[in-house]
Amino acid sequence: MTHLGSCHCGHVKFEVDGEIASALSCNCSMCQRKGSLMWFVPRSALRLLTPNDNASTYLFNKHLIQHRFCPHCGIHPYGEGTSPSGAAMAAVNLRCIEGIDLAAIPVDHFDGRSM
Ligand SMILES: [Zn+2]
Repeated sequence: MTHLGSCHCGHVKFEVDGEIASALSCNCSMCQRKGSLMWFVPRSALRLLTPNDNASTYLFNKHLIQHRFCPHCGIHPYGEGTSPSGAAMAAVNLRCIEGIDLAAIPVDHFDGRSM
């Protein structure tokens, strides 16, 4: 299934393929503040519908994850990084996906603060 996602103002839009089985809530210093619910997919499953540069990039800690956000409305729709096995991954913020019932998606809690 293909899902449509965007930031609030529409400056950043994307499509992402896959079945949303669960979401990940992380308590690291960044995710706790954002309140995002992440869904990890291969980077190849995420297709940007707006130019890549429309999303700004925020880096912190070890700079392993590119936290992409809209410079206009401030929403963080996705992040990009590499899995331990070396695969390019995307962490899609499910709160930015249209037409899904967030309350019906089980949430796993990840202790990113202790990493
Ligand atoms: Zn925006």
